[in-house]
Amino acid sequence: MTQKSTIQSNLQLDQSLDFIFETVELAVLVENANREIEFANTLFCKLFNIRLTPQQLQHSNILDNANSFSMQFENATNFEKSIQEIPAKQEIIRDEKWKLRTGKTIIRDYIPIFKQNELKGHIWIYRESKSALDYKAIDNTTSAIENALHYLPTEIAIFNTKAQIVFVNKAYINNNEKRLWAKGKTLAQYFSYANLSAQTAIFRTENINKAIAEKKPVSWEELTITPFKKKQYYLRTTYPVLNNSGQVESVIEQSIDISFQKELSTQLKEASEHFFSTLNNVNDIVMQTDGELKLEFINKAWENLTGQRFEEYQGKSIFDVLSITRYELYGKMFAILSGEAKEKNGLLLLKGKDGKEKSLQYNLQSSFNVEANKHGVLATLTDITKQQLQETQLLELVKREKELNELKTAFVNMVSHELRTPLTVISSSAEILDLMLQAGKGTDEVSIYTKQIIDEVEKMTAFMQDLLMVSKIEAGKIEINPSETDVVSFVNNVINNGFNTWKDGRKAELIIKRNPIVASIDENILQHALQNLLQNAFKYSSGKSNVKVRIAFSKTYYTISVIDDGIGIPSAEMEKMFTSFFRATNTGNISGTGIGLIVTKYFTEQHKGSVNVKSSINKGSIFTLKLPYNSK
Ligand code: ADP
Repeated sequence: MTQKSTIQSNLQLDQSLDFIFETVELAVLVENANREIEFANTLFCKLFNIRLTPQQLQHSNILDNANSFSMQFENATNFEKSIQEIPAKQEIIRDEKWKLRTGKTIIRDYIPIFKQNELKGHIWIYRESKSALDYKAIDNTTSAIENALHYLPTEIAIFNTKAQIVFVNKAYINNNEKRLWAKGKTLAQYFSYANLSAQTAIFRTENINKAIAEKKPVSWEELTITPFKKKQYYLRTTYPVLNNSGQVESVIEQSIDISFQKELSTQLKEASEHFFSTLNNVNDIVMQTDGELKLEFINKAWENLTGQRFEEYQGKSIFDVLSITRYELYGKMFAILSGEAKEKNGLLLLKGKDGKEKSLQYNLQSSFNVEANKHGVLATLTDITKQQLQETQLLELVKREKELNELKTAFVNMVSHELRTPLTVISSSAEILDLMLQAGKGTDEVSIYTKQIIDEVEKMTAFMQDLLMVSKIEAGKIEINPSETDVVSFVNNVINNGFNTWKDGRKAELIIKRNPIVASIDENILQHALQNLLQNAFKYSSGKSNVKVRIAFSKTYYTISVIDDGIGIPSAEMEKMFTSFFRATNTGNISGTGIGLIVTKYFTEQHKGSVNVKSSINKGSIFTLKLPYNSK
């Protein structure tokens, strides 16, 4: 009977102990005195690249396998020799370094097993970690496997169904004497004997009984404070071992030190808390979704901007929060989730807590949730409302500055042009007059030139008056004082004052549609508006037919249109028609100041009316004043 079967018959453990060896990260091999393999765990098979299962390896001779085992090591010959020779020395060998062919180094320990000074077997332990194991001699153990259990750095105890200790390893009770005493006792008895907490004993026993009753493993965490006040966390599990008929035969209790993992998770928790508190202090809005775009987190910046608490949105879709119906955003989100794009940017609008709309620049990126092992979306939103406002203000300022400059240039050009021509005429006429007077010429001849001087001065005066009018308008100094006026006679008066007939002999024809109605008009003011339109109509249609003036009365308003078939206005320049000093590009030699239409517009508006233009290049123009009957 092999030692392995001894353990089986004694403890009814079958292969149940194997999993204990699997939970410790050690590769373990146990041989009997004849150098036959008693036990190997999965990690061992993996390490040596053995295609057999640990069970299939059982009972084969280690020396037959030595050669193939050695193949994994850089120095295969030396390794094979060590397997053959070490057991003969019958001594513990620890912390031997062996280099694998993969480049990795592993550490090996060898422990011979004795019982009453007789060599019973050999244990080989391979491990990655450098922390040394404690290999003090163990006595009075039944089997090689039990011996191996003693060397595992984890607490292991085996109980019968009455919760009495059948076996307990060195890690559980280190003291040889106490360990021997404990055999056959309950935990309560042992804990009282060893002066340990009775409560712990009760709790552990409860879990042993629970595992027996439920036929299921029971796990719990235990905290121990070391004599150096260090916190040590253990994950303890009781596993029920069932026989072939499904009856519980025994219970294995194992405890794994999880302090490191605990420490890590505390650090991770602290780090993530720190991370989130940092996130809450940044000005940008940060949102995190899961793979289904449900919100997992929004930082404080969201509440600061919108006044809404994140709790109201937790678990809802990101689209509920951004209240964006834009197809574009969906496309971007899914491009990120599908891995098609790494990040996407854009602009969106959001209602702030002050009720005003905010412009936000967003950045979408894929985020990875380690716990859920899933990708979600990380959205960062930057409020650029202020920045945008400043930009528009700046742009407006620049535009206004540019307009002012253009206006100044146009003004200087116009003034110099409009004054130079009459001044040249005046100065040359004066020179001619002088010469004529010296030559003793008669009054008739002289009067031609004095008339020219008077005409030009009149033009200049008119021009100055126009300028003065505009400056008055711009200063808002003109007020109207309307009274009941017959519209037709008002228009007739304006026409008869210089436009019937015009300098070139043409006339202004009056057309009246529907019944004339009386309206409230400030004649002194509105006449300027109409005069300017008539002057332009004649001026820009020189050589063409008569100018037409049409008055139409409708229910709520009346219109006065001045129609010509002259040069027209280029359509691209139409929108600038009513700006100061504007003159279209097709005016050529026709003199003008770019002031008249402003005056027309302003005075019409003073009468609560509006000016409208229709024009076609080289075909003619129609300027229409639309006025209400009551302009007060
Ligand atoms: P101007 O003294 O130059 O005529 P206005 O302010 O009266 O100044 O008119 C501005 C510009 O509008 C003119 O320079 C001309 O280009 C255009 N315009 C006005 N009326 C007419 C019209 N009846 N036909 C063609 N162009 C016109």
